[in-house]
Amino acid sequence: MSKGTVRNSGVLTFRGDCIDYVTCYKYLGVQLSSNGKFTQMISDRCIKAQKAIFQLRSALSTTYNVSRKLALSIFDKQIIPVLTYGCAIWGQTCNIDTVAVTFNTPQTLSKKELSNLFQGVTGKIYIDFDVIRTSNNVRATIRINNPEHKAWLIMKQNVGPTPFTVTECSSRSWKKFEQIHTSFCKYVLGVSKYASNSATLCELGRVPIGIRITLAQILYWHRLEQLEDNSILQSAYIETRENDYDFIRGVRYFLKFNGLGDFLNGAKFQSPKYIKTRTNMRLSDQFIQSLESRLSHFENLLLCKPLFPYKHSEYLDNIRNVKIRNIFTRLRVDNNKLKAYCHKEDTLCSQCKVPETASHFLFSCSSGQLPTIRRKFDQNVENITPIFSSKSANEKLSIILNLDFSSQEAIKIACSFVKDMYNHRFKRNP
Ligand SMILES: [Zn+2]
Repeated sequence: MSKGTVRNSGVLTFRGDCIDYVTCYKYLGVQLSSNGKFTQMISDRCIKAQKAIFQLRSALSTTYNVSRKLALSIFDKQIIPVLTYGCAIWGQTCNIDTVAVTFNTPQTLSKKELSNLFQGVTGKIYIDFDVIRTSNNVRATIRINNPEHKAWLIMKQNVGPTPFTVTECSSRSWKKFEQIHTSFCKYVLGVSKYASNSATLCELGRVPIGIRITLAQILYWHRLEQLEDNSILQSAYIETRENDYDFIRGVRYFLKFNGLGDFLNGAKFQSPKYIKTRTNMRLSDQFIQSLESRLSHFENLLLCKPLFPYKHSEYLDNIRNVKIRNIFTRLRVDNNKLKAYCHKEDTLCSQCKVPETASHFLFSCSSGQLPTIRRKFDQNVENITPIFSSKSANEKLSIILNLDFSSQEAIKIACSFVKDMYNHRFKRNP
């Protein structure tokens, strides 16, 4: 039987009416498919959320300076419920794991070579993979949907002719959901769609939608565990557990691999609040830790932002002018503006022939009028904050992109310096 066809095993009647065999049925807003999958439900949720975002964005666009807080709060209250409706039931089916690996020695492997390597000795083990190339090495994120494959990758690390290390295993990749979320975050920040997803979330102090979905699932599972009413629901749950269906297997796998295995024996006796707090803390901590490795090639952002406590960057509150604020954000997170972050062959500043990083651009580039603008800034800031000139380039970059000055006047000067530099650089050489 193919997945799309419905097995017709006799005629079912209810009060004299014949009941049709269908491939899909909507019950309480959740689309149930005859093949037991929720693919249709998930894409349906995404389409509905995208429609709602379109309306939200057109409402927001009528005012020029909508606060970031307001926009995100509307997203959380209006869009997330649409996106995650019923996720406690269907979330498990998008159970795709990602395993990130870094090679122990510098590599310049092509995509084809990487593909062959991961297929390795046991045949095709992954769904697909993404590659991030740094100046002399490769980092790959491999998506898998079988827990055994994760174990296989861990077992194979550090051996063979091209040894690699598993640097991160994240339990779920909610690609579609996260895309909707991150693209709204990018809209709020005013950066291009090419800006890094991780950097965007980090700048706003947001966590992935997947965390909410997993949390909803675990809480729902906990509720089912506590049922003692001999209801249909309880009987269904007992059957699910006895037959080790996808839902229960997914929950068990998640809890075991995330240091929450003790829930499996004792969850019944814990309050929902306890389960929620511990699961949430575990998921958030994992996410923030994984951010660090993913952001390691973003020198501007790492330099400018401590990851703990995890919250939005302060300059977002301190710069009122939207245009100037967006320039700061682009310098911090939008990796397609300055050449060094483009992941292209030519990362050198065309004038100075050194990598065009943010600190080069702001503090040492000699292209065009940049030195003149810089000299003017140095004189002005020297009068207010004499200590600034004695700092190293990295410290200066951190102070400037964080607006970490003690006086309002210095902040003003720094803002107009960054704005002038940026406008000069990108208007002349777009
Ligand atoms: Zn230069």
